Order: sequence, then structure tokens, then C-alpha cells
Amino acid sequence: MKICIACEKDVEGMRAVRVKDDRVIRFFRSVKKTLGIARMNDLYVCEVDLPKHQERRKSFEKSMLFAVVLAGIVLVLVVIMLLLAGRFEVWALVSALIISGFILLLPFFRYAPAVEIPAAVRPPPPALLQAVAPVAPSPLAPVAKEKPKKRKR
Ligand SMILES: [Zn+2]
Repeated sequence: MKICIACEKDVEGMRAVRVKDDRVIRFFRSVKKTLGIARMNDLYVCEVDLPKHQERRKSFEKSMLFAVVLAGIVLVLVVIMLLLAGRFEVWALVSALIISGFILLLPFFRYAPAVEIPAAVRPPPPALLQAVAPVAPSPLAPVAKEKPKKRKR
């Protein structure tokens, strides 16, 4: 079944964009397979939910970036501390690694997968939205683009 990950509706016959199959999705899928609850749906984001999803994706990317920087700072601080103390403490390094790992894990609690359209495009032009199945002509059919104006010198 082809479902929208936001509203969990069947997108058959609707305009939708495919969710990129990434490591996180493959991980969850393998966990579900192990538990025997995998539904093996094809994941999409429907046209209606796309703008919201793009927002969520952007904020996920931001918090991921923030987490990477923060985890790096924690590690660097601990290393500096150890250097200043003049002796190597394994427990300090191990706990710094655990804290960094936890910081990196946090953004995934609100994970939003990438979809198969250029991230820079927002809102996406209808031309980039693939119809999942043949549909009646949509009112959102792509409008012919205006010719780019010549640049003034
Ligand atoms: Zn939806």
C-alpha cells in the first residue's frame, strides 16, 4: 500500500512525493520486521501535507546540525579538561562519548525523512509532484513558465 507518512492515508490516485529510503527508515523497517509488525508500505507524503512536512524536515536538519556541534563541543571540552588535568581518565572520555551519543540521538525522536524533491524548492511546483496513479487532470497542472527576462547590462 502507498501511504502518506503524515496523515497515514492511502495516496493511491493522489499527487504525492516519495519518501527517500534512508538508513533511519531501513533501521525502523528491520526492527519492525524482527518484531513481525512490518507492513511494508511504500512511504509517501501527500500534496496536502507536503508544506508541513518540508517544515518538519527543515527543523529536523537544523536540530541535527545543532546536535552535531554540541556533541563536538562536549568532546572537545572533555579532551581539553583531561589535557589540563595532565592525566588520562578513561571514565571521563567514556562518559563524554555516551553524552555525545545521546545528544546525537535526540533529534531522531522527531525524525522527518527527506522526500524526493530538491530541498531548495518550497513550495514545490506541481510539476515535481508525481501522480502515484493515473488521475483525472488536476487543477494544479503545471502552468507554463514565463520566459526569463533578459538581464540589463
Ligand atoms: Zn497526507
